[in-house]
This record gives sequence, C-alpha cells and structure tokens, in this order.
Amino acid sequence: MSPRVALLGATGSIGRQTLDVLRRHRDEFDVVALAAGRRVEELAASAREFSVARLGVARTEDRERLRALVGDGPEIVAGPEGLAALAREADIVVNAVVGFAGLPVTLAALGAGRRLALANKESFIAAAPLVERVRATPGAEVIPLDSEHCAIHQCLAGSTAPGHPDVRFLWLTASGGPFRGWSPQQLVGVTREDALRHPTWSMGPKITIDSSTLMNKGLEVLEASGLFGVDVDRIRVVVHPESIVHSLVEYVDGSVLAQLARPDMRLPIAYGLGFPARLDDRWGAMDLAERMSLSFEPPDATAFPAIGLAYAAARAGAAAPAWLSAANEVAVAAFLEGRIRWVDIVAVVATVMDQFVDGPMTEVVDVVRHDAAARERAAAAITVHS
Ligand code: NDP
Ligand code: MG
Repeated sequence: MSPRVALLGATGSIGRQTLDVLRRHRDEFDVVALAAGRRVEELAASAREFSVARLGVARTEDRERLRALVGDGPEIVAGPEGLAALAREADIVVNAVVGFAGLPVTLAALGAGRRLALANKESFIAAAPLVERVRATPGAEVIPLDSEHCAIHQCLAGSTAPGHPDVRFLWLTASGGPFRGWSPQQLVGVTREDALRHPTWSMGPKITIDSSTLMNKGLEVLEASGLFGVDVDRIRVVVHPESIVHSLVEYVDGSVLAQLARPDMRLPIAYGLGFPARLDDRWGAMDLAERMSLSFEPPDATAFPAIGLAYAAARAGAAAPAWLSAANEVAVAAFLEGRIRWVDIVAVVATVMDQFVDGPMTEVVDVVRHDAAARERAAAAITVHS
C-alpha cells in the first residue's frame, strides 16, 4: 500500500510545490487529506485533482463554501482541532502551514507516531520542549523540508551518536537576502516591494520578509538545535549568495560535508516524502560541467542583528524562542500592512525580548500563554514605532 499523505497548508508556496512533487508520483503516494487557510477555491481544485477524502479549513465559516465546491463526498473539518485530526490519520504529514498556526499539526503528527515532513519551523521552535517529548512516540520522526536542515540531515547520515559528538559545527548557509552589503543608513529606506524581492528563492510573504531581515536564519539556528540535538554554540551561519550549497557539517577531524543543488524546494520536499528512498526527479539538478563559482562570507551582525537575537534567545530560557518567534510574526505582519518600517521589525522583536519573562514550558497551554504574552508586548511596541 502507498503511504498516506496529509498536506496541511496546501495552498501556499510549500504546499503547491508539494503537490507538484506528488503529481509526479501519483502511484507512490496516496493523498488522503489537504488543508488550507482561506484559499478555499484552490483547495477544492486540488481536492478534486487528487480525489482527497478529508479536507480542512482554518475557519468554521468557510466550511459551507468549501462544501458547495466539492460536493457531499469529502469530510470537511475546521480550525486547529480539525488540522490536528487530519495530521493523526496519515503516514506522512507535511506541515506547510505558516507561523504559530502550525503547532497543532506538529504536535498531533508526532504524538500519533507519524512522519512529520516539516516546513513549519515556527511551531518547532516555539514548542521545542514539547516537541522533544512527543518525538519519543514510537514511529514518530521528523524529516526537515527546510533546505538547510534537509542538507544537514543528509550530511549527518553517518553520524549516529545522540548529540553528534563527532561534529564540530553545523554550518547553515544564508543567501544574505536582497539587502546583502547594504549599510544601516540604506536599510532605513527599505520598502515593502524591496523586501519582497528575494534574490534566489520564491517563497510565501512571511518567510520572504524573514529572509530579508535574516531573522529566518536566526530561526533556523534554533530549528537546527532542536532538530539535531546540538547546542547553538556548535551552530554557525555563513553567507553564500549563490544558494547552491544548502548547508554543511564540519566534523571533528576537519572534514566538511556539504549538500549542493540549484535552489528548488521540490528537492527537499521529495527527500522528505521519499526518505530513505530517493525519488528520481532531478529537481534542482546541476550541470557540473558548467563553470561556476561559489562564495562564502560572514554575515554582517551590525546591519542584521536578528541572528544575534536568536542566539541570545537560545541562552535566555526555554520559553525565549517562543517569544522571539511570536514577536517576529506580529512585527512582520505589521510591516506587510504598512504600519512599521522594515528596520522596525527587528527593533520590535528586540524590545519584546528585553521584557522576556521565563516560565514553565511543559504543556500546550504554557506555549500558548508565552506566545500570547509576546504578541501583546509586540503590539504595544508597534504602536510606539508606527
Ligand atoms: P505561504 O504563506 O505561502 O503558505 C502558508 C499556508 O498556510 C497556506 O496554505 C495558508 O492557507 C496556510 N495557513 C495559514 N494559516 C492557516 C491556518 N490557521 N490553518 C490552516 N492553514 C493555514 O507560506 P510558505 O509556503 O512560504 O511557508 C510555509 C512554512 O514553510 C513556513 O513556516 C515557512 O517558514 C516554511 N518554509 C518555507 C519555504 C519556502 O520556500 N516557501 C522554505 C523553508 C521553510 P491560505 O493561503 O489558504 O490562507
Ligand atoms: Mg531555509
């Protein structure tokens, strides 16, 4: 029997690219569930194309609209509990939801002992202590779809001891975003259009903005630490503008392993679906006979303070990553709505982190409470900046 796939966040950038991969492998995977936020028409079209039995929408009020589009056949669930129910009933759960809203998917998939093909880094970062616990469920596994973490997963194939004592550093590569080399003075004038123009990747709006501030890389440091059980002191960031080397592992003997491909998210998605098998697709395939140069440089910590904030959060307490991620989500939304300037995004996050108060992080209610506390402070900081 083909593995059953639930794709949650099916209408976004990762969701659509996952459907591209699945379209090429109709006989190898059985798409049993799809969910979206508000783009109900697109969800319905994909549901018809893949004959999907179970569908989810973010809001209860969208159920009837979806019902009218898909007829009586599919079951339709709504809200966070609906998403969680879909995640429990599949062999592979692709979490392609954006932001904290992906939390029920991550926890339900792992709690039910499923494979979580993870794009939604925010849930993994915010709820790290809970994720750690549910990952111990028999059968549960996480295969990262984030290209850097997928690269590291591949480069760690021979490193099996917990905590990877044979590794000196995990090196995350960063494209540097659209503002690489800009001075702090130039960054003050950045517009929404400038920030939405990523040099190498085409992605959803939130992660595109995160890539422009380098907060995405900060979040990825925290994501890597949780995924691979490696302290942030052994995780480093290097700017690599070509986005060909997706990340590297430096072993204690000095050997460095890297994974290379042209930037195409369908490659890590296919890896996450097929693992340990490789799907014969050649997404991101390179012509190695072609002349090419690869460059590396350190990130500019003064112009882009977001990475430093993420390292500080890792050291500040168990709940600090949840605060960082929540404050950033609120600040990015405010920037996209034109309420604050680009430079204010990270300034708002820094203001919130200055007010950080740690507390228990053992239950979902704790995570939700920390998330809400950070959002409230971020909203207050935004009114000061706007
Ligand atoms: P998009 O904004 O393009 O898509 C987000 C998806 O989540 C949409 O399908 C959206 O539905 C859905 N969604 C939003 N809120 C809810 C909700 N409350 N309930 C159910 N579904 C919801 O984002 P991306 O695809 O770019 O990113 C998704 C995740 O993957 C993010 O965490 C991002 O950091 C990560 N990621 C993305 C990469 C990329 O290349 N895009 C690369 C690496 C990681 P709708 O549109 O219908 O409202
Ligand atoms: Mg990434």
